[in-house]
Amino acid sequence: MALHTKEQLTAVIKSAGLRLTDHRLAILATLARVKQPVTVYELVDTLRKKENIDQATVYRNLTSLHEAGLLRRLDFNHGHAHYELETGEASHQLVCNSCETVEKIEGISIDSAVQKMLKRSKKFKNATTHSIEIYGVCKHCA
Ligand SMILES: [Zn+2]
Ligand SMILES: [Zn+2]
Repeated sequence: MALHTKEQLTAVIKSAGLRLTDHRLAILATLARVKQPVTVYELVDTLRKKENIDQATVYRNLTSLHEAGLLRRLDFNHGHAHYELETGEASHQLVCNSCETVEKIEGISIDSAVQKMLKRSKKFKNATTHSIEIYGVCKHCA
């Protein structure tokens, strides 16, 4: 499910058992708008254009939203985390080994590969969602 409206995001926060605050709503609304997984720094920069919010508050809210299962935390070997909304949909990213370029690619299905993996798996019967990072070198760094 795509989460875009304020009403949908409000419902998601409440159903996760979290208290609804302007900051939580603003963080989720920003993540719903961006095309790429963002860092805390990028999130603070974007939020500060509209809100009076400091980095510690953003961190704290990201942690509680992540613990509640509303966010996905991604690691691209940058030494910092990136966040995106947990929509339950698969997420595919190309990541540059040289610079910090990350490109999210939409509309690609690797479901058949997932099915093959499950067939070979001794410990898993099914999969819910996935996030994959493919590493390489971007055009600018090549
Ligand atoms: Zn990064
Ligand atoms: Zn690059």
